[in-house]
Amino acid sequence: MPEKNDATPLTAPQDFIREIVAADVAAGKNGGRIITRFPPEPNGYLHIGHAKAICLDFGVAQEFGGFCNLRFDDTNPVKEDVEYVESIKADVRWLGFDWGGREYYASNYYEQLYEFAESLIRHEAAYVDSQSADQIRDLRGTLSEPGRDSPFRTRSVEENLALFRRMRAGAFPDGAHVLRARIDMAAPNLNMRDPVLYRIRHAPHHRTGETWRIYPMYDFAHPLSDAIEGVTHSLCTLEYEDHRPLYDWCVEHAHTSHHPRQYEFARLNLNYTVMSKRKLLQLVEQGHVTGWDDPRMPTLSGLRRRGYTPAAIRDFCTRIGVAKKENVIDIGLLEHCIRGELNRRAPRAMAVLNPLKIVLTNYPADLIEDMDVVNNPEDPAAGTRRVPFGQEIFIERDDFMEIPAKKFFRLAPGREVRLRNAYLITCNEVVRDGDGALRELRCTYDPATRGGDAPDGRKVKSTLHWVAVDKAADAEVRLYDRLFTVEDPEARAARENADLTAFLNPASLDVRRAKIEPMLAHAEVGRRYQFERLGYFSVDPDSLPGAPVFNRTVSLKDTWAKVAARTDK
Ligand code: ATP
Ligand code: MG
Repeated sequence: MPEKNDATPLTAPQDFIREIVAADVAAGKNGGRIITRFPPEPNGYLHIGHAKAICLDFGVAQEFGGFCNLRFDDTNPVKEDVEYVESIKADVRWLGFDWGGREYYASNYYEQLYEFAESLIRHEAAYVDSQSADQIRDLRGTLSEPGRDSPFRTRSVEENLALFRRMRAGAFPDGAHVLRARIDMAAPNLNMRDPVLYRIRHAPHHRTGETWRIYPMYDFAHPLSDAIEGVTHSLCTLEYEDHRPLYDWCVEHAHTSHHPRQYEFARLNLNYTVMSKRKLLQLVEQGHVTGWDDPRMPTLSGLRRRGYTPAAIRDFCTRIGVAKKENVIDIGLLEHCIRGELNRRAPRAMAVLNPLKIVLTNYPADLIEDMDVVNNPEDPAAGTRRVPFGQEIFIERDDFMEIPAKKFFRLAPGREVRLRNAYLITCNEVVRDGDGALRELRCTYDPATRGGDAPDGRKVKSTLHWVAVDKAADAEVRLYDRLFTVEDPEARAARENADLTAFLNPASLDVRRAKIEPMLAHAEVGRRYQFERLGYFSVDPDSLPGAPVFNRTVSLKDTWAKVAARTDK
């Protein structure tokens, strides 16, 4: 379904990154040019955390008249795949951003990066280490103890060059050698203790095929890719703060003409959600969800299938803002954002998830009336539609109690309620099966109340949604709950040394056979509706003509207002 694709916010957000960028522009740095990049590794689908980074990277570029590059950080051939590249492009576009042909790949720079590496060797700033991974780790030291030099650290330039070239030529098996930066094995920052720059990997790459036997590490490839592209502000999450000295070291020692700068911001954390691609992949591979786009997943493809709109996700990203301090956002805020938008946009419809039949004993058996119904009270332009009404109708099983509890104002024996947009009805008789199970209700309707209001002004305490038995269509309706039962599944799993799946919510999916009003039977995939009193729903791609499947995007009840009120105090 086409989405409105204008990602320009009404008011430009303010945060410390934008202050830095504005100051750099004012000072005429880089000739006033702004180039950012969004650098996904194509090893999984994008999630809502990436949306925060995308809105920032593309948003800053847009606001300051610059460019944002879409750069695939594809330096690990074993975990990466074109399927992920394609999904990432589709998701960024869907979110409403355009890289305008600036689609780049770290793998396009492999030759150039290799040249940088040889130049480091020639300047005695890098060496080939032939220790095993274990030996390298053992000599690395700890936070309180300095590391020790590798016995290979003093190799001559000629020997290093010869070995590195043979590494490239495929002369050695995986793990036989690595190329390391020669920095300082006693550096307080462990990232500066002669970090590995290249490793041998006899694995085909999704873009370069069998060309390369050595692959650059992220810490080497990333800053130099930024430099090659002329990136001015390289925005990344806080876990890279300790890597910044290495970022600057690589750029300085490669003697690139341009020096990009890295700035870090706090990643998005959401409660009841995992955001690590490795963990999300585990859920997919082990079949705990139906795929990366399962509507319970925090992926953009999952949120899209669930019924989220790009505008709601961008609105969410604006509201959470960009700061340097880690925090956890309540998932209620994300739900609040989509609810607000769908309230304005989604046409109303009626569906009954757990049907109970009512027979209107004084309604003509062969009469079908078309009720005029407003499609969206929030949007007069949405118009009206006709909904058929007949002698037999379904209401929600929960809307009836034979012996009503205190404060239960819906249907009960002897009680009158409103059927929305139809009539006032009164319950006269409860019909049970032989085994005592509730079969149907016998009610009467008041013909003078067509449309739902009594001419004598008498009031009823509740209004129910309904569908006509003879005209109803069948649908599958999927109701979702949180995927995890605890607020911090990853932290809990780590603390309790448990598998993440121990905290999966077994009731996260509840499938109903529902009765729906006839116009929904052929609802188009991707369309969104408010089912009266039940929430917002979107039409799932699993739908077949005449056999629609609906996902509940979100319920009607807003928990965020409460959360916000609590945290404001
Ligand atoms: P991995 O666990 O594979 O490293 P990643 O989530 O860091 O995954 P990348 O593909 O490296 O994935 O991320 C691309 C960009 O998105 C990076 O700049 C990263 O900082 C940013 N990003 C990732 N997760 C979040 C998050 N939760 N909040 C904000 N930005 C994020
Ligand atoms: Mg990463």
